[in-house]
Amino acid sequence: MRPALLTPLFADLSKIKGVGPKLLPTLGKLLGKQDHPRIIDLILHMPFGILERHEIESLKDAESDMRIIAHVNILSHDSPPRNSRRPFKVLVGDEEETMDLIFFGGDPRYITRMLPVGQTRIISGKVQKFNDRLQMAHPESIQRPDDDKPIARLEPAYPLTKGVSRLRLRQFISNALGAIMPLPEWIEPKFMEQEKWPSWQEAILKIHTPKSVQDALPESSHIRRLSYDEILSSQLALALSRRNMVEKQGQSQIATGDLSTQIKNSLPFSLTNAQQDALKEIEEDMAKPAAMLRLLQGDVGSGKTLVALLSACISMEAGHQVALMAPTDILARQHYKSIRQLAEPIGIKVGLLVGSMKAAEKREMQQALVSGEIDLIIGTHALFQDAVSFQDLGLIIVDEQHRFGVLQRLALANKGAMPDVLVMTATPIPRTLVMAYFGDITSSQLNEKPAGRQPIITKSTPQENDEAVIARMQSALDEGKQAYWVCPLVAQSEELDVMSVEERFDILKSKLSHPIALLHGQMPEAEKQKAMQSFIDGKTRLLIATTVIEVGVDVPNASIIVIENAERFGLSQLHQLRGRVGRGSIASSCLLLHSNNLSENGKARMDIMCRTENGFVIAEEDLRLRGEGEVLGRHQSGQISTKIADMSVQYDLVQIARQDVKLILETDPELKSERGKALKTLLYLFERDEALSLIRAG
Ligand code: ADP
Ligand code: MG
Repeated sequence: MRPALLTPLFADLSKIKGVGPKLLPTLGKLLGKQDHPRIIDLILHMPFGILERHEIESLKDAESDMRIIAHVNILSHDSPPRNSRRPFKVLVGDEEETMDLIFFGGDPRYITRMLPVGQTRIISGKVQKFNDRLQMAHPESIQRPDDDKPIARLEPAYPLTKGVSRLRLRQFISNALGAIMPLPEWIEPKFMEQEKWPSWQEAILKIHTPKSVQDALPESSHIRRLSYDEILSSQLALALSRRNMVEKQGQSQIATGDLSTQIKNSLPFSLTNAQQDALKEIEEDMAKPAAMLRLLQGDVGSGKTLVALLSACISMEAGHQVALMAPTDILARQHYKSIRQLAEPIGIKVGLLVGSMKAAEKREMQQALVSGEIDLIIGTHALFQDAVSFQDLGLIIVDEQHRFGVLQRLALANKGAMPDVLVMTATPIPRTLVMAYFGDITSSQLNEKPAGRQPIITKSTPQENDEAVIARMQSALDEGKQAYWVCPLVAQSEELDVMSVEERFDILKSKLSHPIALLHGQMPEAEKQKAMQSFIDGKTRLLIATTVIEVGVDVPNASIIVIENAERFGLSQLHQLRGRVGRGSIASSCLLLHSNNLSENGKARMDIMCRTENGFVIAEEDLRLRGEGEVLGRHQSGQISTKIADMSVQYDLVQIARQDVKLILETDPELKSERGKALKTLLYLFERDEALSLIRAG
């Protein structure tokens, strides 16, 4: 049972003032909790930086790129533009200087009312200088001089979404902070003292109410403390589930080769050496009586799926069932399709179990699993969280794992003998991070691509050349090629000067004469499938997508990928995206569109992408070069995300947490001491409490 102390934190988000039923789903999307966002989700919505505003006496002190707070007089309004694509301008100024306020797509009547000529207003926002003229596009706030709520000089900048403005989100978070209270301390007191860390409560408050811009640095004590909490909880949960796996009886599964030989014989190609080596390691592991826990790290396009299928054969030959879990419905269906083609002709019964199936179909499939009718079931993680029973599960394969926590669930999954577990990652993970994410795990690597693959030519170019890129795209599509165009955001956001997938779709739609389609994570599942299917069928020539296509999507005919605002992605993510092309025998290319003024770090990262296709090299460089300005990749290393901890900066905390956990489990294996109890609270806080049921009662 979750400690009563945490109840207010896990209350529904609708408990917060101002959050009504209309806003709830929007916030749910933003917080990654589609179904039921809770107060804790908002509290753990981490800012990606801190905005600093400078209160200036006169506009003449404003510099380009500066965020200012200034008193200005409203001097004049432009006449409203006839074309809605053109901006509406308002001239403001003080005794010494004038400035244009620029509004795109706003209602001029509303803006005029907010900024009446002849009056004074306090405005804040980011200033640009063009030909010595000051400009401010979309002021962040406009206030009357007598307003009693001053504009904040420092403000955390949060990821936003359409429908939730910056100001409203801040208000909600500030309301949510009312729900936090002191929690029993789970960190060792001496260590706390040594690191000069604040309590959990203080640390959370500081995240959302920073006192200086330095408070955004990952090395500040409150961020390190919260990172440690997150890392400690995951290491503890991993250690508990690992202990459980080791103690439980595993099964010795001996390959006969009956099934795998038939599959290999039906392939038009032979296995790569890397595939053969990995399979040999897996086969040896599975033959042992202890449960296997192995990581299969495949570089993009190295043929992981086939290794998965042939591993499944080992277990099926030994008479057991196999489950393969994919991270999304799309990928599960894709695996189902390609695996069925190989497996069904030789008598393997393959089943599919995904969220978008009808309830009756799901029930039927669950029946077939219990009765042992299905040999190999393919589905999403979500479905295996519910009580799915097997007749005799021998092997679980987890494809492209995105989050912590799957391993714990696996440890719980089976009441009988422990099935073997094979975890596959979509891109290599630096050696140093494997332990952080998986605890004790052995790993096999697929570092070789099948023969006959053409290299992917990668180039980078500034965003301002996008017209030329579109023109080239038109001629490539004319030649019958298929392409992806990836954008980092779904919808336009207030804070970021980044192309959204919706905007880009509109632009390309008006400029290209070929059928194109849109695909992003916020679309309904059925529409996503439709978009994907028409691309697979070649009806759609260009797919404009967010990173939903990042993992696993396999359309061999697609040979061009354009990645927009490429500087905003982690290298491993770029590598993974790039891996969507070069999957057939057609020569492929990848174009990285980056911001017009790229930082040194950004240049270095583009450079690596253009230079190498080796995912193992890229993974190491990714860790080394992670830029502070990088927004989207901040909490992602490879494909695994954390809420708070940034593993590239806080890796040392993983080592400390591992030692810490080892000691805890030696001295207090059932978490009964005061600290042990506090650690249980920590597991509940990060929702890794499933691991607690692995502690034997008594
Ligand atoms: P990834 O490792 O990116 O998941 P996939 O498993 O999707 O790669 O494989 C990519 C493509 O390569 C598939 O179309 C698959 O059929 C093909 N493939 C796999 N192994 C080989 C091989 N040894 N030789 C040639 N093609 C292969
Ligand atoms: Mg794959």
